[in-house]
Amino acid sequence: MITAADEKLLRRAIDIAAQAVTLGDAPYGSLLAGPDGEILIEAHNTVRRDNDIAAHPELKLARWAARELDERTAARTTMYTSCQPCGMCIGGIVRSGLGRVVYALATEQLVALNPGSVWPTVEQYGPALFEEARVPIDTYYRS
Ligand SMILES: [Zn+2]
Repeated sequence: MITAADEKLLRRAIDIAAQAVTLGDAPYGSLLAGPDGEILIEAHNTVRRDNDIAAHPELKLARWAARELDERTAARTTMYTSCQPCGMCIGGIVRSGLGRVVYALATEQLVALNPGSVWPTVEQYGPALFEEARVPIDTYYRS
């Protein structure tokens, strides 16, 4: 469920995305809000500027939360983001323990607006070499 308070913060994320464009960066913006709706931190996409494929705002905020917030606090935050987080970012969001994500454009909507936004795929092969590959895992988790 998305409330009127959520929409207010979501509009701020869209404003951050618009501001990113004026700075020469890609049009994606996000913020992380605490349980009372207070903005903790904001970020926009700096992939081009930083020459860093991981410089998506959602991942920046997730990494910040993992570093700066305790688990309980992180679980009470909400990320507001101008577009639905990509696969890379959702992984970081889940690992950082954020409580919730509210986004404006769904991935399908973004792709309809810009077909170049299709998330690429890569061929993956496996599993293989189980007995060999399990050794470092067993060594780490059973000691
Ligand atoms: Zn992303």
